[in-house]
Amino acid sequence: MTNKDLANLIFPEVKHDINYYEEKYPKRNLKEGEVVTRVAPSPTGYMHLGTLFQAIIDYILVKNRGGVFYLRNEDTDTKREIEGAVKLVIDTLKEYEIMPDEYEVEGKVVGEYGPYRQTERKEIYHTFIKHLIEKGEAYPCFCTKEELAEMRSTQEKSKIRTGYYGKWAKCRNLTIEEQAEKIKAGTPYVIRFKSHGDFDKKFIFEDLVKGKLELSLNDEDFIIMKSSDQLPTYHFAHLVDDHLMGTTHVIRGEEWLPSVAKHIELFRAFGFKPPKYIHTPLIIKKEGNTVRKLSKRKDPEASMSYYKECGYPKKAVIESLMTIINSNYEEWHKANPNSTYLEFKYSPKKMSASGALYDLDKLKNISKNIISKMTKEELMQESLTWANSYSEKLKKLIERDKEYYMNILNIEREQKKPRKDIAKYDEIIENIWYMYDDLYEEKEKVYEWQKITDPKEIQTITTTYMDKYFTTSDKELWFNGVKELSEDLGYASNMKDYKEHPENYKGSVADVSTVLRVALTSKSTTPDLYEIMSLLGKERITKRYTSLAK
Ligand code: GLU
Repeated sequence: MTNKDLANLIFPEVKHDINYYEEKYPKRNLKEGEVVTRVAPSPTGYMHLGTLFQAIIDYILVKNRGGVFYLRNEDTDTKREIEGAVKLVIDTLKEYEIMPDEYEVEGKVVGEYGPYRQTERKEIYHTFIKHLIEKGEAYPCFCTKEELAEMRSTQEKSKIRTGYYGKWAKCRNLTIEEQAEKIKAGTPYVIRFKSHGDFDKKFIFEDLVKGKLELSLNDEDFIIMKSSDQLPTYHFAHLVDDHLMGTTHVIRGEEWLPSVAKHIELFRAFGFKPPKYIHTPLIIKKEGNTVRKLSKRKDPEASMSYYKECGYPKKAVIESLMTIINSNYEEWHKANPNSTYLEFKYSPKKMSASGALYDLDKLKNISKNIISKMTKEELMQESLTWANSYSEKLKKLIERDKEYYMNILNIEREQKKPRKDIAKYDEIIENIWYMYDDLYEEKEKVYEWQKITDPKEIQTITTTYMDKYFTTSDKELWFNGVKELSEDLGYASNMKDYKEHPENYKGSVADVSTVLRVALTSKSTTPDLYEIMSLLGKERITKRYTSLAK
């Protein structure tokens, strides 16, 4: 019996050889310097911030250099698979405008290098595994879970490296006849790669982020095909897919770095050129004085759904990730405020090798800036789109009177230093509620009085103001009114006078305008009071002031 017979016994259904697939998926027609990148999520029903982080790098590399960005659905762990999970990833990428050029979703295949879903590529993997078995580079292993556990505990007890390698790789010594006999008898088996590596020897591996690394050669006969469903393991699927799909750059999490020696040995066994690797650092966050990995279980911000639910503009999320993708991004952005992140030249060398620190406060600041630069129409539209899915209350408020809503948003907008109080759409109501009488009335208000707290004095200020000095016909006249009111009641209308002779006054114009502001909104800090008053109008202001006095 030969290796070929064994290969036929294991894969009787495989019709083609690997050359068939080499021809079916020819080398991509790339121009000099062009790249092929991919995002390869496992469909778990959850989209991690890290997936977007990597997808941005994939996308930006292709935008910088030309080429193709594709999505591959790595669904070989059929137990973990969740219905619709890839659609969630694709929809999110679409929303963020980083749509792959090639992908497969809900039966629709876009691109010539598919299927882009691993469970549909079983026959391809089998062809490549069969090829290795024919060459004697892979073999069936019949070790049971119990035998493997026992081997491991013996290794641990003797303090030697654990794993299926060298003399521990029992099944590599079975004869072809023994192997065939067990297979015919229905004994369950996996397929292992037959390693020729020597762990004591080193090779140089160049990761584009971490630079040149000296790694031990692989000597493990690792599993390439599982027994339960005959699907390949990640190691093998990665080789076949990235080779046939023509990937030039693999951007993946650094948790794969320890497997690199296995991957390189596999590529060599086939004589294929390995892609370039960018192992991205873990996304970490600060907790007290330490940092830790962003956790799916503990941190809502690890999930892309968080940003959607809170209503962060997509651009803010991208910008915040760009700042941890390359250390020189912020500087570049400052120097090129009108360029988009796609024009930034990404460099793996400028990526932190130790951990990418993600900070929600930073995201908030970036977001406030972005929202402050939107026009009132844009912000109305964006917040309405968000409210349609996430806030019935805001949706109703906007639809009640779009013009009025935009006017509120427009206070201190479209000017050199626009207001920056909103970081996400779920904060809008808490910033503008006092501009709506019904919300104002139902709110349990805490009036943030400052220097002047005496109710009688407050009443005097508000009534005198409304009776004698109120006007919103223009900003200067409005301010003169407040000044005259101050003088009338014994407050300094001029801050300089007040500072020089505080003893001559009850207080200053600043104290008086604070009373007018707090009595109207309950808040001691708001955007421009003149604009608030203009929008509310005399009647509503009078009503609030009088009801306060009661
Ligand atoms: N499916 C793998 C993961 O989710 C992808 C790793 C890769 O990009 O190669 O970790």
